[in-house]
Amino acid sequence: MLALELPSRSAPLKILCLGSHSDDIEIGCGGTILRLLSRDANLEVVWTVFSSTKEREQEARDSADLFLTQAKRREIIIEHFRDGFFPFDGSEIKNFFEGLKRISPDVIFTHTRKDAHQDHRLISELTRNTFRNHFILEYEIPKYDGDLGQPNFFVPLDQDIYEKKVHYIVNTFATQRGKRWFEKETFLALMRLRGMECVAPSGYAEAFYCHKVVV
Ligand SMILES: [Zn+2]
Repeated sequence: MLALELPSRSAPLKILCLGSHSDDIEIGCGGTILRLLSRDANLEVVWTVFSSTKEREQEARDSADLFLTQAKRREIIIEHFRDGFFPFDGSEIKNFFEGLKRISPDVIFTHTRKDAHQDHRLISELTRNTFRNHFILEYEIPKYDGDLGQPNFFVPLDQDIYEKKVHYIVNTFATQRGKRWFEKETFLALMRLRGMECVAPSGYAEAFYCHKVVV
């Protein structure tokens, strides 16, 4: 299959990453961010987490620092909207999105619209609602509810990249280790399946839903 690349140019590519909770961006698109940065450090990344406690905020900042080490410029925004209550705090969150319009991103990573978690769905909806003429990739998060579907946009990951992703996640988010699903096998298993689906040379990939693309 013909592989498409993001355009290379002299101006930095602006990437906006949106995640409801402090580990969502890493799980959903951490490998893709690492791959983009390994090929071209001329990226400006705005990394936005909508919900956190004091402890989880520190984990989110530590993790973003690890994933974005090579980025030319990075801005990390950690908000404190109530975990689990996003649809009920929607007007405040929509106001926050209005402020994100200043960024004018080239690529946006956000939750997928069919995600079973209510916080994830709201962030996905407000992403499309706010950014009307943008390249948006919707990432997936494995969970108890079993909402995985058929993504249509694949990013193969070399071994050093997918191993680094899992290592960073498992080692940084200490508050999540008590959750039964939060272990490296879960993250590797999903990437292995997506790698199989896109015939990734390493066998591993991340996958996204892309609803509109212009070439
Ligand atoms: Zn989440």
